[in-house]
Amino acid sequence: MINIVIFGAPGSGKGTQSELLIQEYGLSHISTGDVLRGQIAQQTELGKIADSYISNGKLIPDELMIDILDKVLDSMQDSKGVIFDGFPRTINQAEALDKLLAKRGASLDIVIGLEVDEDELIKRLINRGKTSGRSDDNLETIQKRLDVYHSQTNPLREHYIKKNIYKAIHGVGDVTKIFGEIKHAIDSL
Ligand code: ATP
Ligand code: MG
Repeated sequence: MINIVIFGAPGSGKGTQSELLIQEYGLSHISTGDVLRGQIAQQTELGKIADSYISNGKLIPDELMIDILDKVLDSMQDSKGVIFDGFPRTINQAEALDKLLAKRGASLDIVIGLEVDEDELIKRLINRGKTSGRSDDNLETIQKRLDVYHSQTNPLREHYIKKNIYKAIHGVGDVTKIFGEIKHAIDSL
């Protein structure tokens, strides 16, 4: 079993590279953003709560997010491994992930960090906002999401560097070339 965290700022390309990873390795995929947007679309109780955070560029509270992840992992029992896309986003969530995996006799193998400069991120997200219909892809909310990323999520980079499982990938340029570097990192495990 191989467990991969795909890590990076909003708009860094986590979703895009996850798709390529799924095709290449046949792994299961958890995008917490997609799970939450699914709940919003279905207008569930959870969706209503999630919507109030997402459209303000804030993170969903840790306890709620961890609970959701636990349930999704239950549905992936026989999988060859999991790509975690958008989780963890806080140190608390990272510690919870270790426990959730340990409980299943597994552990995290690698954190792929997609590193993209801020101007490029803003450009991509504004562009995506033209067609995504996402309530958080507008300049004001993008700015908030980037602030939240810097204060709450970016500390995970150091956290995983210290644990020796962080692999930095320059996330600008040709999508296939970026994927080639990710593949190389995974195949070297
Ligand atoms: P990318 O463009 O790289 O896929 P993103 O930040 O644009 O990344 P999502 O990962 O889809 O988009 O997340 C969208 C929103 O969902 C976040 O801004 C946050 O409000 C909420 N969210 C997603 N994952 C988490 C999480 N692990 N903890 C708390 N909130 C989350
Ligand atoms: Mg995404």
